[in-house]
Amino acid sequence: MGKLFDETNEKFTRYVVPTYAPGKMFVRGEGARLWDDDGVEYLDFASGISVCNLGHCNERVTRAITEQCRRLVHISNLYMNELMPRLAEKLVTASGIGDAQVFFANSGAEANEGMIKLARKYGNQTGRNTIISMDNSFHGRTLATLAATGRAKYRKGFEPDMPGFKQVPFNDFEALEKAVTPDVCAIMLEMVQGEGGIYPADVEYLKKVRALCDEKDILMLCDEVQCGMGRLGTRFAFQSFGIVPDAVSMAKAIANGLPMGGFMARKKFASLLVVGTHASTFGGTPLACAAALAVQEAFDKDGVLENTVTVGNYIMDKLSAFAGKYDFVQCVRGKGLMIGLVLDRPAGPLAGILMKKNLITLTAGETVLRLLPPLTITKADADIAIAKIGEALEEFAKEQK
Ligand SMILES: *Cc1c(COP(=O)(O)O)cnc(C)c1O
Repeated sequence: MGKLFDETNEKFTRYVVPTYAPGKMFVRGEGARLWDDDGVEYLDFASGISVCNLGHCNERVTRAITEQCRRLVHISNLYMNELMPRLAEKLVTASGIGDAQVFFANSGAEANEGMIKLARKYGNQTGRNTIISMDNSFHGRTLATLAATGRAKYRKGFEPDMPGFKQVPFNDFEALEKAVTPDVCAIMLEMVQGEGGIYPADVEYLKKVRALCDEKDILMLCDEVQCGMGRLGTRFAFQSFGIVPDAVSMAKAIANGLPMGGFMARKKFASLLVVGTHASTFGGTPLACAAALAVQEAFDKDGVLENTVTVGNYIMDKLSAFAGKYDFVQCVRGKGLMIGLVLDRPAGPLAGILMKKNLITLTAGETVLRLLPPLTITKADADIAIAKIGEALEEFAKEQK
C-alpha cells in the first residue's frame, strides 16, 4: 500500500472513532473497476455493499448530480421540492402497490426506523405494539433497528434493549404463528437475508406470512435495504416472490451512492403519519432525489434487470461446480446478483486471497463469501471473477491441509 494510505491511516487512527478498520484505499472508480492509491486496478464484486448498483461514477447519475448541485442542493421539507414527489411516483409505479406513498430518509436504519414507527402508530390504535422479526436478520444500528436485528452480538454493550421486539427462526411458519400474541402489530423480514448469510425466504413461507398478516390485521414489513433496488432481478425484492407487503424499506442503492433511504407503505397505513408526526431534515433533498431519479431512468432504459437475471444465473451456475469440487464448499445460495458461496468454515481468509488477486468481495454470516457485483456487470467480467474464485479456492484448499 502506498504513501497516501499510510498518511491517511495515521490521521484516521488519531481522529476517527475506531469503529472501522479500513485495510485498503481506493481513489477512483469506473463501472465495475476500482483503482487503489498505487494505481492498481481491481474488479469490484461488492459495489460498496450493494450501493453502487449501477457501477462507480455511472454516467447518468453523475450527470444528474452535477446538474442538480449547480441548481439547488437542499431546501428542507418546509418548502415544496419538485423532485421528491416525482421520485415517489416513480417508485410507487414500479412497485405496483397502487395506492402506496413514500417517506424519504437518509439511510437504511432510518428507513426501517420510520417503518417501525408506522407499524406502532397503526398498532397502538388497538393496543398492539410488538414487532416480530427474524433470527439472523439485520435491520440497522439505531436502537430500534438493533432491537429488531436478530443477532445479539450487535446489541451487546448497548443495553437496555428497546422494548417491543421479539425474534423467531426464519422460514419457520409454525414458530411465527406461535409468536403472534395479541400484542403483535407487525412482522418484519428481509426477502433475502444479507448480512446474516444470503438466506432467501421460501415463497410458500412468505405466502403464509402474508395470509397470517391479513387474518390478524398485522403489517407485513419488508426490509429491502440490501436485496431491493434491482439486486434480485426485479425492481423490488418482493416482486421476485409474488407477495405484496404493507410497507417496504429502501436505502443502499436507491441513489447509487448518495445517502438516501425511505419507506413505502400502503395508503391505509401511510395516511396515519400526518403533519408533524415524523420528519427528517435531509429526507428527500433535491440532490439525492436527482441521483435516485437517474437510477430509475437507468432501470427504464438500460436493461439493468435483464442483465441481473442473466449474469446472476450464469455466475450461480458456474460457482455451483465448485461445490462439487471442494468438500469445504457446501453450496451456492442467492438470487439475481445477490450470491453467497457457502463454506463450512470462515470465509474471511478466502476473501483475503481474492483481494490479493484484485477481486473485491464480502463475507456474510462468518462462513459465506458474499458477491454483490454491480447489476451492470458484463459476462466477460463475470468470467474473470469466476476464474479468480477458482484459483483462490485452489490456494485456500492447500492452506487448509
Ligand atoms: C445495510 C442494511 C441496513 C442498514 O442500513 P444503513 O444505511 O447502514 O443504516 C438495514 N437493513 C439491511 C437489510 C441492510 O442490509
